[in-house]
Amino acid sequence: MPDKKISFHKACIDQKEIDAVTDTLKSGWITMGPKVKEFEKKFSDYIGAKFSISVNSATAALHLSLRAIDLKRGDEVIIPTNTFVATAEVVVYFGAKPVLCDVEYDTHNIDTSKIESLITSNTKAIIPVHFSGQPCDMREIHDIVKKHKENTGKKIYVIEDAAHALPSKYNNKLIGSLSDLTCFSFYATKTLAVGEGGMVTTNSKQYADSIKINRLHGISRDVWNRSDGGGWFYDVVSCGNKYNMTDISASIGLVQLNKLDDMNYKRGVIADKYDNAFKGLVKHLAIRGNNATSNHLYVLKVSDRDKLYDMLKENNIDASVHFIPIHFHAFYKSKFNYKRDDYPIANKVFNESLSIPIYPDMSEVEVNKVIQVVTDYAKNDKII
Ligand SMILES: *Cc1c(COP(=O)(O)O)cnc(C)c1O
Repeated sequence: MPDKKISFHKACIDQKEIDAVTDTLKSGWITMGPKVKEFEKKFSDYIGAKFSISVNSATAALHLSLRAIDLKRGDEVIIPTNTFVATAEVVVYFGAKPVLCDVEYDTHNIDTSKIESLITSNTKAIIPVHFSGQPCDMREIHDIVKKHKENTGKKIYVIEDAAHALPSKYNNKLIGSLSDLTCFSFYATKTLAVGEGGMVTTNSKQYADSIKINRLHGISRDVWNRSDGGGWFYDVVSCGNKYNMTDISASIGLVQLNKLDDMNYKRGVIADKYDNAFKGLVKHLAIRGNNATSNHLYVLKVSDRDKLYDMLKENNIDASVHFIPIHFHAFYKSKFNYKRDDYPIANKVFNESLSIPIYPDMSEVEVNKVIQVVTDYAKNDKII
């Protein structure tokens, strides 16, 4: 009989989440309400950011962040090409252009040494993506925008795509309060999962107010506050979006936030096991100095990615590839005329990368099984 399948990801959900949802359903208030408020407060406390504004996805978080900085048609936003399409699509919503930057070979993060040459008079923002959970070189990015401000008087905003980076540390500080705005994802496969959800963190009241208003139709105050004695009146101050989180999701989020450190520890144990087993056999992403990764993904770098993928499949193990670069996708290629040769490192890492399963509920037997197949593969592979 073949072994039981090892899935690429399994959300870490137990009775506590189920009970929390049941309580919310029984409470009579199932959309944005007290649970959302509590989740935002506890998230801010955890991250150490002044404001946390919840939404229904990280894509919405990025969209509203770009609204908050007033991105306009014709503006440019610098993003790494090695990212999920959401990072690019939110820029296109505005009629603005995603300017793609190549990535570093060791970390697959945006190559900060290539950012300055991409800056033009239209550059409005940079969205670094903390790939797999390892923080980008934020000091370098902040230095670049500071220098640009000194030279031209123009601010370039920094919005972190932290969909992989909860909890990750840059220079011993949690990701979430280092830049103008930071966006987290609570999608089913992310390190804190509520199904669909996201959060923006910021220390700016101005951005926080803008996002709060635009996540709910541009209404000048939260609808549920109307039950707080405010009566029936509300005013609409902008053409907003419908991006709010529900209390059902927030009640799951509260339980997940409570066990975030424990889940993170468990992924760390698996990552250490993989690191030790693959030492000298297979390359994987490097972790820099004082950074701590969430280990959202564990990415191997091999010379024959498709062969390793097939071997894992034959052994009933799911793997995945992160990411198909933005400049490969039909829509982006034809709309923005990206040239494949402009991103040599991203092309290379795309061909070599394979993400293997890593999640808190993986059993030791499952981890060992993955190690065994990868080690078998490595016997006939040369380290690249
Ligand atoms: C998952 C992901 C997103 C989008 O998150 P959603 O919550 O699904 O909208 C954005 N950027 C990156 C890098 C991601 O991995």
